[in-house]
Amino acid sequence: MARTLRNKILKNTRLATNYGGWIYCTNCNQNIGYLCYVTYDWLKLNYECNCGSHGSAIIDFQDSLCGRSTYKKLITEKNRFCCADDGTPLITLLDKKLRHYHLEICCKECDKIYRQDFTQPEADK
Ligand SMILES: [Zn+2]
Ligand SMILES: [Zn+2]
Repeated sequence: MARTLRNKILKNTRLATNYGGWIYCTNCNQNIGYLCYVTYDWLKLNYECNCGSHGSAIIDFQDSLCGRSTYKKLITEKNRFCCADDGTPLITLLDKKLRHYHLEICCKECDKIYRQDFTQPEADK
């Protein structure tokens, strides 16, 4: 089940394990989300933590595909973002701890690329 990383570029960000688990902001050490280990094909994430730190994560694997864009939106189950087609749980991002984020994640099951943007309402003021 182990996968061979191709790119793993983390900025101001730490992962609990090699390519999954809890996601931490390295400035304030808060967990800002959770990345499911084996269900995503690749990940691109940019965010601003509530502490003001800007973080990002780019992860893909030797066998990652480029994926296909979809107009669909990720569905949310118990605060976890899941693939709209196969229900695969992919990632959790904790809205309350983030001022904004931009997420691109590809589902390994169906190779669909989901894009999601979030801005905390208070962050605009
Ligand atoms: Zn932080
Ligand atoms: Zn899928």
